[in-house]
Formats: sequence, C-alpha cells, structure tokens
Amino acid sequence: MVHGLQIAAALGTSLCIVAALAASVVPSPKGGPTPVPSAPAKLPANGQANPLTNASSNATASWCVQIGKRLPGVTSEQCRKSGLSASGGLSARGQPIMVRRFVPLKTGDSHGVRILLLGGIHGDELTASAVVFQWMQWMQTAPAQDFSWTVVPAANPDGLLAPKPQRVNAHGVDLNRNFPTPGWQQDAPRYWARATGNDPRRFPGKAPLSEPESRWISAEMERFQPQVIISVHAPFGVLDFDGPAPTPHQFGRLLFNPVGVYPGSLGNYSGVHKNVPVITIELPNAQTMPPPAEIKRIWVDMLGWIQHNVPNVSQGAQVPAQAAASIPYSQPHAAPDQPISAHR
Ligand SMILES: [Zn+2]
Repeated sequence: MVHGLQIAAALGTSLCIVAALAASVVPSPKGGPTPVPSAPAKLPANGQANPLTNASSNATASWCVQIGKRLPGVTSEQCRKSGLSASGGLSARGQPIMVRRFVPLKTGDSHGVRILLLGGIHGDELTASAVVFQWMQWMQTAPAQDFSWTVVPAANPDGLLAPKPQRVNAHGVDLNRNFPTPGWQQDAPRYWARATGNDPRRFPGKAPLSEPESRWISAEMERFQPQVIISVHAPFGVLDFDGPAPTPHQFGRLLFNPVGVYPGSLGNYSGVHKNVPVITIELPNAQTMPPPAEIKRIWVDMLGWIQHNVPNVSQGAQVPAQAAASIPYSQPHAAPDQPISAHR
C-alpha cells in the first residue's frame, strides 16, 4: 500500500572506505592562519590574460582559500589545481557552486557513462567534500577516464563554509530533503514533525526545490542526464543505494546496509522516481579522513560496480526503469527517528 511517509525497506546502505593516497594529497593542519594567495591563479598556457578568465580564476582562488582552511587533507593549492570553476549556480548566500566536468579522455566527447558526483550536500560532513577532491585527481586515469563526469565537491557551500560548519544551507534547509518527490507537500513536513521532532537540522524547506542549491542540482540532472549519481556523506560508515540497478554490496570496507527512503531525499527523487541509480557513500567520520588505501579502494570498487552495472546508453536515453515499480513503499521497519534512519 502506498503510504504518505514512504520508507522503502528494499533500499539499503553500506559503505566501505578504502584508500590509496594520492601522493599530492598533503594533510595540513587546519585552523591556523592560511595565507591569502598574493598571486592570481594560473594564466592560461598561452599566457594571454583574458579578463573574464582572470575574474573566474580569481573567484576560484578566493573560494579555494576558504576550502583549504576548512577541509581535512585538502590544501588551497590542491583546490586551485583541481580545475574547478563557477557553474553559474549560487548558494542561498550567493556563494558559487563550483563544478568540474570531465569528458572521456580518448574520445573527448559526451560518450561514456555519465556520472554526477556530489560531495557535501550536508555541509558539516567535511570528509564528504574532501574525498571528492581526492578522487578528482584520479579522473583522468583508467577506468574513470572513459566516463563523463560532472563533479561538485561542495554541493552546500553555505553549510561547509559557515563559521561553524552546518548540515543545512544558509536558509536552514536540509537540501537532502528538498527534492520534489511525489507527495512532498504532505509528506516532507509530516515526516519532519513526526519522525524528527521538528529537528532544525532536518528542516525540508517550505516547498520542494525552494533552495537554489537543490534547484541547481535538479537542473543539472536535467541537463547532464546522469546515468548514475554518487552522493558522498558521513559519518555512518555504510553504503546505500537507491534505484534501478543491481545493489552494490561492498565498496572498500563499507557494506551495503538498507535503511530507507525519505520524502525529499536525493535517493528517493532520483533513484526511486527518476530511475537514475543513486549511490550514497557514508564515510565513517565527518572530520577525519579515511586512510589513503581505503579512499582508493572505495574508488576502485565504485568504478568497478559502475562498469559492470550501469549500461552506457546514448545521451537522453532512459535508463531502464524497473525500480520505481518494484520498490515497495511501506512503513519503516524500525522507528524512523533512529539516528541512522534520520540521517541521510
Ligand atoms: Zn549527510
């Protein structure tokens, strides 16, 4: 029976962390004074100064100074070298949503499985953004180089860069409850009240897509037509999955652990209702990075799963939809306000 507060028992979570260190990742102490770069970001290879490019580079450099102060294991220099640029989307506070897009190295076109990788939709999960910065260094190596990527390491810049990092954006909205799942107007406020006790960290907003960050992600999904979405979180140390593909069982040490689906969550919106699979990676600690070998192993296992389970269909084609019809909506098996259930 379809019920308003729908929690699909069929979905799960599990995560593992594996890591191999990228030699260029240098853990740096945070909290100390971080020098503001006196020189602008690199000029283009030809040395020509394009005013627009320079403005963009300066914006990236400024943003990266903040990132370097905030994230574990990510320096400002590493951030600047990551190739991110302003997407055009802005947060509630007007901060840029930074993005990098990769096309397949050999073909240079849009062919190749399209992957949307989001870090830090919850701003206080610092490692969730930092791990994405780490993975970005490996995107032009096999097999990642054969895919098309849209990478957003800090999907909630307001939360991440707040004086004290916070889960919600500057409007106090949990972006991972703000996606337009069917029945949102009824289900999301009711779930928030009944299951979370009006927890301000889990406020779904006053309307679906009320927030500029969730609107940007939704628009990017329409534009890019990802065939799989990876959303990185912390600190529950599990792997979760929603959508029409065989369930991944283990990435690194993270194990699939079924939890549920929530009104307005990305997994619910994309995985269940849009039939685009969503992998949710929950790192085991929000402030401390996994060991390098674990970071690497999660990456390797994740790409292996994508290679074997996500068909490479042409741009605009639909991923076969089987999940929406097959996932039973039901009452939660466990109290829905258990911390792990309420988290994602
Ligand atoms: Zn989270």
